[in-house]
Amino acid sequence: MNDDRKPRILALGAHPDDCDIKAGGCAVMWSQAGCVVKFVSVTNGDAGHHEMSGSALAERRAQEARAAGDVAGIEYEVLDFHDGQLVPGLEERFKLLRLIREFRPDLVLTHRPNDYHPDHRYTSQLAQDCSFLVGVPNICPDSPRLERMPVILYFADDFQKPIPFQPDIAVDIDDVLNTKIRMLDCHVSQVYEWLPWIGQSELEASEDPDERLTGLADFVRPFSEPGEAARHSLIRTYGHERGSSIKDAECFEICEYGSSVDAEVTERLFPFLPKRR
Ligand SMILES: [Zn+2]
Repeated sequence: MNDDRKPRILALGAHPDDCDIKAGGCAVMWSQAGCVVKFVSVTNGDAGHHEMSGSALAERRAQEARAAGDVAGIEYEVLDFHDGQLVPGLEERFKLLRLIREFRPDLVLTHRPNDYHPDHRYTSQLAQDCSFLVGVPNICPDSPRLERMPVILYFADDFQKPIPFQPDIAVDIDDVLNTKIRMLDCHVSQVYEWLPWIGQSELEASEDPDERLTGLADFVRPFSEPGEAARHSLIRTYGHERGSSIKDAECFEICEYGSSVDAEVTERLFPFLPKRR
């Protein structure tokens, strides 16, 4: 990454709303700091509903994603691979490879490779498959190779096997939590329809926006409540006083296949973190 320009951040989620829940707060802060952020949903989400399906659902979810992107001030692209059917094949790999090369990210965010949902697993697999190849000119020679491999970080999750998530980087999102909640509020088909139907929430789309957003906050906040390891990471970064009182955080784990990460790189990629003395 050049020192004289702001970092470019690319988040690769499997479904339209994954990036929002995992990194929506950071996206808002990056955007406020003048960084270019792009969220990508690798599948079009066309299986994520109990009453709608196919292209009508895909179009609705793409609109919801674009609306969430507008709330954060970022671009949100939804690719056209079918929901629940993603495979880590060559077509998918080359699509992502070209997308990554075109965007020229300094930082790529994605799922960890072990996850309950096959689309999450294969999105992670595809991102890892691209990590070395973005610099190989004979692969997709029509798209110029990247001179420098981006840093790759994983989104947080709660899965314990084969190894629990490690919060290498933890970010205080208290100041932007409400904006993150408004991003999630755009995904009406999910948070107020599909997730309640599959029993993952009890939310209802109340006409009263205050009531609706309060209910949504109760659903969103457990995803960003710091556990013990995240708390240690927050205290390491923000000091004891502030680190102990942060209510909501987004955490990331370093992927070994990306560019190496040290404190200086972290500071450049996350310009809103406190500066080391
Ligand atoms: Zn998902």
